Amino acid sequence: MKAEARSANSSVESLAFVALGSNLGDAVQNVRAAIQRLAELSAAPVRVSSLWRTAPVDCPPGSPPFVNALVALTPRPGETPESLLLKLQALECEFGRVRTGARNAPRPLDLDLIAFGDETRCTAALTLPHPRAHLRRFVLQPLSEIAPDLVLPGQTRTVAELLAALGTTERLERLT
Ligand code: AMP
Repeated sequence: MKAEARSANSSVESLAFVALGSNLGDAVQNVRAAIQRLAELSAAPVRVSSLWRTAPVDCPPGSPPFVNALVALTPRPGETPESLLLKLQALECEFGRVRTGARNAPRPLDLDLIAFGDETRCTAALTLPHPRAHLRRFVLQPLSEIAPDLVLPGQTRTVAELLAALGTTERLERLT
């Protein structure tokens, strides 16, 4: 790891990173409203990426494009990855998410916990860091806007380096 990456990482090592996605209803409005709700869960001002319109990945044929964003929040005292995940799932329900059982079906709001400080988990309910975050442009692109020097637990390269090395070619468009 680069020295400058390591020192920059120390300032973000206690943050929780949440990836937002929506491809049902008014996706831009859903993501904007969810960002406000995530800010209420944070003990300090949040870092917020741009909104990105992205092509669906691993979704049923004909799925609409997504709007994606990334938020970095400061966990409140006593917050754990598990307690935060429950709050994220409650928010998904509040925004009308219905779990149909169909994998990656269109949804008004998807919230993934990408990382929670340097915590790691491998349970049925929670994998940390998120197992596919380092492979997905729709995560790495907005994450690189707010934490380019972050090194996710288990990785040796920064977010910016992972993004530059991605072999995939998904389409992304930054929304103003
Ligand atoms: P999804 O349908 O993509 O929202 O997946 C939600 C499921 O993934 C839930 O059963 C979660 O318990 C599980 N899960 C495991 N790890 C994570 C994570 N890091 N962030 C969000 N959900 C997770």
